[in-house]
Amino acid sequence: MRLILLGPPGAGKGTQAQRLVDEHGLVQLSTGDMLRAAVKAGTPVGVRAKDIMARGELVPDDAVVEIVADRIERSDARNGFILDGFPRTVPQAQALDRILAEKGLALDAVIELKVDEGILLDRIKRRIEETKARGERLRADDDPAVLLRRLIAYREQTAPLIAYYLQRRVLHTVDGMAPVDTVADAISDKLRRAAAPVAATARKASVRMEKKTAMGPRKGSKPEIRKKSSPKAPKAGIRKSRGGAARRASARPNKRVRRLTKRR
Ligand code: ADP
Repeated sequence: MRLILLGPPGAGKGTQAQRLVDEHGLVQLSTGDMLRAAVKAGTPVGVRAKDIMARGELVPDDAVVEIVADRIERSDARNGFILDGFPRTVPQAQALDRILAEKGLALDAVIELKVDEGILLDRIKRRIEETKARGERLRADDDPAVLLRRLIAYREQTAPLIAYYLQRRVLHTVDGMAPVDTVADAISDKLRRAAAPVAATARKASVRMEKKTAMGPRKGSKPEIRKKSSPKAPKAGIRKSRGGAARRASARPNKRVRRLTKRR
């Protein structure tokens, strides 16, 4: 299963990603965490990102795309992942399409956590107070003025992804203002539903394939797929990869994407 969690800062992406990690054994790929690690380690990307992050602005697309592309290559991401904080711009989304298409993979779902922006500021302020009370160090961008800039960056650069994924029919919206458990249940529900039509598509494709082959079903037999070759219905929203036909169909638009986004 390959998922994206989309939502403004403080929407609860990290919390929900952790729940999905625990429940479905996926890996969480948080670009915020990766970039903070790069800053700490003083890598070239980290040096480039440090001040930008402290100001609450977005790190340039090429730097972020590079670290995500490298991370997706690692073996622990092979069975699926949850992207938390990526993509944050349309060019990043196009680059992700290209990265996945090159591997013959596709996104299963994009979950948008919809929240009230006014309440977000209060949430983040509370998070800052709680971090201080625990005696832990604050993040460089844990500051109300910086948060406001991050919210503006979300509105201007990230929110257009809602239309981008809506068009691709992978967007699912849940109410991020509900209690954590309720949000987690709503996400699981969406994932179950998201998996169902894909399984149906794969089944139809399999039936078409069977009809085409000379060794297809004997006359009079139902156009059913034989048990052995039928793709298993996904368990509770978990799916390893799409069937061949579905994968090819979703990879098709990416030829155009390749022309639009060139690797630098
Ligand atoms: P939060 O989850 O609190 O919104 P993150 O930890 O995801 O914040 O990100 C912190 C900062 O890291 C962002 O404000 C931005 O500067 C940088 N960053 C993280 N992901 C990306 C990305 N995909 N593109 C550009 N910048 C990013």
